[in-house]
Amino acid sequence: MESTTAYLERLRPAGAKRSGKRDLIVNVFLRQEDHLSADDLVDLIRREDQRIGRATVYRTLQWMVDAGIARKVDFGEGRFRFEHSYRHPRHFHLICKTCNTSAEFLSSDIEAALEEVAAARSFAARQSVVQIYGECEACRTGRTAPARQIPTELLFARDALRIAMATERSGLEFYTKAAEVTNNPRGRRVFRRLAEEEREHLARLEARYRQLLAADPDLESRPTFLFFRGAANGLFSAGAEELRAGVDARRALLIGIRCERGSHRFFKRYGERFEDSEGKQIFLEFADEERQHLELLIRESRAIGPPRARRRKRPAKRTARAGRG
Ligand SMILES: [Zn+2]
Ligand SMILES: [Zn+2]
Repeated sequence: MESTTAYLERLRPAGAKRSGKRDLIVNVFLRQEDHLSADDLVDLIRREDQRIGRATVYRTLQWMVDAGIARKVDFGEGRFRFEHSYRHPRHFHLICKTCNTSAEFLSSDIEAALEEVAAARSFAARQSVVQIYGECEACRTGRTAPARQIPTELLFARDALRIAMATERSGLEFYTKAAEVTNNPRGRRVFRRLAEEEREHLARLEARYRQLLAADPDLESRPTFLFFRGAANGLFSAGAEELRAGVDARRALLIGIRCERGSHRFFKRYGERFEDSEGKQIFLEFADEERQHLELLIRESRAIGPPRARRRKRPAKRTARAGRG
């Protein structure tokens, strides 16, 4: 993954010289998880270096917006706030009008609906802003909200792993069941092999998940960031359900192909669109594993061949020529 320095080097305009002041301002800004006003940033910078003036901070902030390092957000307070985009996945906001805090989330259903509307109206969308105004849980219940912010990147990685694990679990269930119901020995071997692979992948993902949680004791209990309704129960659960009806190896392979293809597309599509981050990597690695499964299933399905023609009772006159179809 890209380091902060590499990230900044890439964004630095050609020919622009490094500036110590600007580097300091950018570095302080990138350490923040909050949505800061320009004056909040001035205060933070002054704590590090009293000699840096307000105008320099403002100018650098504008440069960061132009360079894509900072995003400008408007929470309806009559002034802008700024958040950095370094390893920070795009998101929507919940904004509490009582305590003026904001929380971030992303929903695949909302994004799909926005894309559908824009496409139907032939509209080239550049940016979509979704903000929910209201009162947060802490303000409504009097319970104190956790003071410490956890970087959205970590919540994103946590949720990406949860979705990938749910998919692996449903895939494991699907292939185990497919191996049970299939009579064809070749088909059964393939399904057993895939079940074994899903088991290994799942163990790997679980280890990675435990490692991620170990980095921060509060991470597991923080609210959901990624709302991916279609994927939450695993992209293979509908396929596993279909197997219950009793199917042959060919049919089971076709259902498997459909599930793997859906899963591959889902993880690739989202993975490619996310900013550089651990969550993005999890999605893309997973998309690649699903593609390998998909290719294996397609090969097997070809090897098993087309469905054998069913013997039908033919009309008496044609029995002489039967056996060709
Ligand atoms: Zn509040
Ligand atoms: Zn935000």
